[in-house]
Amino acid sequence: MLEIKNLHVKLQDEDKVILKGMNLTVETGKVHAIMGPNGSGKSTMSYVLSGRDGYEVTEGSATLGGKELLDMEPEERAAAGLFLAFQYPVEIPGVGNMTFLRTALNAQRKARGEEELSAGEFLKLVREKAKTLKIDADMLKRPVNVGFSGGEKKRNEILQMAMLEPKMCILDETDSGLDVDAMRLVADGVNALRAPDRSFLVITHYQRLLDHIKPDVVHIMADGRILQTGGPELALEVENNGYAEILAAHGLTE
Ligand code: ADP
Ligand code: MG
Ligand code: MG
Repeated sequence: MLEIKNLHVKLQDEDKVILKGMNLTVETGKVHAIMGPNGSGKSTMSYVLSGRDGYEVTEGSATLGGKELLDMEPEERAAAGLFLAFQYPVEIPGVGNMTFLRTALNAQRKARGEEELSAGEFLKLVREKAKTLKIDADMLKRPVNVGFSGGEKKRNEILQMAMLEPKMCILDETDSGLDVDAMRLVADGVNALRAPDRSFLVITHYQRLLDHIKPDVVHIMADGRILQTGGPELALEVENNGYAEILAAHGLTE
């Protein structure tokens, strides 16, 4: 599904190199987790995949279903099935959540050459998804993220994900200071949306999130690349022993 090969990325306006030959393959239908110390480049990787400005790819590739993502405009990436959970974290006063979701969904359908949903069809779909995810329909009427609690923002994020039906979901939860309840919401959302044709990449600083999500594969990232790959036991090992040992095996320190 997602294949990152020898990816090198630097800041556009500075000499700082952040990703230093990153390799990662996420298979269709699998849930992968990336853990790693602060400053490893985890968020940078997500930003680069989403097409955010400010970064320069100097080497390597990132393909989704065999198509080069790095050549696409951000909206083409979404149409290709990529979803990033921090994609719409901003508050948008004056724009109802419903309107926002419908615009995002129809933009994606249009880019795929599909017909737009009518107001009625959309309403039916959004109610269905909200119900499955146990999301209060009242939230749909409020302006996007305005005055939402942390938990409500997370719920909204999961609802956006459910509506857009992506193939590859990337959730960067590293710096969001998730409390236990919010973590539970994210985990339940991911678990509800798991499907044989949908992959997840969950980026987290905390092992706790992975207690609920149960990833198929865990990667440890540091210094701009993946250092080690294993099963869920790797997350537990990190929880118990920290990163020092893994870093040291690669000549790195914390
Ligand atoms: P992580 O998500 O693993 O904590 P980041 O991708 O946020 O790591 O950051 C990786 C490194 O790149 C850090 O040293 C960070 O300070 C630096 N960095 C990332 N983006 C920028 C930026 N826009 N300007 C300056 N430094 C940046
Ligand atoms: Mg960080
Ligand atoms: Mg980060």
